[in-house]
Amino acid sequence: MRTPVIAGNWKLFKTIGEAIGLVKDLKPLVAGTKGVEIIVAPVFTALGRVADELAGSNILLAAQDCYWEEEGAFTGEVAPGMLKDAGCSHVIIGHSERRQYFGETDVTVNKKVKAAINAGLTAIVCVGETLAEREADKTFAIIETQLWGGLEGLAPEAFSKVVVAYEPVWAIGTGKTASDTQAQEVHAFIRSLIARCFSQESAAGLRILYGGSVKPDNIKELMAQPDIDGALVGGASLNSASFAAITNFAG
Ligand code: PEP
Repeated sequence: MRTPVIAGNWKLFKTIGEAIGLVKDLKPLVAGTKGVEIIVAPVFTALGRVADELAGSNILLAAQDCYWEEEGAFTGEVAPGMLKDAGCSHVIIGHSERRQYFGETDVTVNKKVKAAINAGLTAIVCVGETLAEREADKTFAIIETQLWGGLEGLAPEAFSKVVVAYEPVWAIGTGKTASDTQAQEVHAFIRSLIARCFSQESAAGLRILYGGSVKPDNIKELMAQPDIDGALVGGASLNSASFAAITNFAG
């Protein structure tokens, strides 16, 4: 009942030309993929051109961040409505790299999520614990704080425009994937938390993605878990063949 989502986060990689080349290669490889929402998230400067290239395909477009104001004297920022204007349907919010290097907090995540939804975008909200937090048995507490802080004040209906990505920080770009059991445990916890804090319906329909060194050879096992509804993929999304193999996990 929950359509799986496979989203590629290209981070700070690919010029406009390279981004277009990647989607040109990707389109035929995923054209036959049914029942999976496929998303790519290039850098801001490539969004408009990639949107043109994606027109008529089964690949959706996301930005990697946004600001929470619609317009104004906020040099360097990009508003959710402007992302929509550029062709985006989704925006990644609260990625651990933004939390780690750019001062993103649960408060700013919350403002961005609300602004994104108001602009008609779907927010892919990232949460995840560091290795030190996991080793100190704080995983659930951290996830609860980040989720509660990031989603506070949302109406249950808003959850149709929210996707949560559980990305253990220690698994991002490290080649270390959380085991299926570790990931499932946190995903089930996230779903139960949403049921408790918002509504049973919001929780049942919520897509919860796993992120952290997802590759063609581990996606199948992850997707076999009952509460894992897809993946947010970094490194392996930069190559059309490996990203297509991940989107074709069921084949
Ligand atoms: C990410 O960037 O969200 C990510 C999960 O990266 P990687 O797949 O490279 O670990």
